[in-house]
Amino acid sequence: MFAAVGFGAFIWFLFVQPDIIWRIYSLNFAFGAITLTMAAELRRAPRRNFVDNILLGLLLVYGVSFFVRPVLVIWIDGPYESYDNIHQSLYWITLTFSASLFLLIFALSLITAIALDVMEELRLESHTDPLSGLLNRRGFEQGVAETLRNSRRRRMAVTLVVCDLDHFKSVNDTYGHAAGDYVIMTFANCMRDFTGSNQIAGRIGGEEFAVLLCGSDRNSGRLFAEGVRAGFGLLPVPHLPGDMRFSASFGVAEWRDGETVAELFMRADRALYEAKKAGRDRVRVDNPLRSPAAPLAPSQHTPRLPVVDLLP
Ligand code: GH3
Ligand code: MG
Ligand code: MG
Repeated sequence: MFAAVGFGAFIWFLFVQPDIIWRIYSLNFAFGAITLTMAAELRRAPRRNFVDNILLGLLLVYGVSFFVRPVLVIWIDGPYESYDNIHQSLYWITLTFSASLFLLIFALSLITAIALDVMEELRLESHTDPLSGLLNRRGFEQGVAETLRNSRRRRMAVTLVVCDLDHFKSVNDTYGHAAGDYVIMTFANCMRDFTGSNQIAGRIGGEEFAVLLCGSDRNSGRLFAEGVRAGFGLLPVPHLPGDMRFSASFGVAEWRDGETVAELFMRADRALYEAKKAGRDRVRVDNPLRSPAAPLAPSQHTPRLPVVDLLP
């Protein structure tokens, strides 16, 4: 619209009412309006980073310059009666100088912004499990380490819930691996529905999941786990018989001050093992009065990757 109006005005002041000054104004004001529209669009963009703010600032300055520069230059150097020597005029020099300087900085900022976006996308991808859409083990452990560091500072209760699907191997054996994947997706969706935005949820193994509940003690952790357990127990799984239901077992442990991530995981795992031993499809909370984490014997629980300790 601005381009059409600007071009229309340019044609008007060229053929109908020839006036070189207004031809200059027409084009400059149209470019200024277009540039400021770009700035307004960028301002509305969600989650602007540092480089986006630089781009926004550049667009604003460049947009305003289209209104200020021609008026100022014509006031100092004008008026221009004809095109004679226009290329040596102050108007032409300031126009080419500002355009080339702006476009160079703008291009560099744009390349940086794109590179940062790609890096962020790769980081998210490397922390996400493609099947469930939850965090993968690496993403989860990094999130846990960051959260514990913050919670230690703010003296906030934090509770870890680990869960493992029951008799999952038999689903794979009976209905095939693809059907097993649907069970994993159904459980992950259920867990996501129960998980708030300040909680970290991940798929930390084949059919093992974990949630870190910030600001929750072991009682809230138990309620959360009971909710997910009951919810999942009601859900049908796509591509499996409609009346078929599945279950999962849950272990809950509240973080103790000074405890490492590995110790917290071990206590939650111990509670999970107790839930399995007691008959599955249930929640067990680690008893805070028991010894700190006594590791489970390897045969006591499904094999899992070693927990990487991210906290000193
Ligand atoms: P329990 O109730 O004691 O947990 O028994 P379980 O059968 O669930 O446990 P087990 O550790 O014996 O079996 C886990 C199975 O999970 C074995 C493996 O084939 C399957 N599995 C691991 N990752 C995936 C996956 O991404 N997709 C599917 N479909 N199966 C997986
Ligand atoms: Mg299992
Ligand atoms: Mg398992």
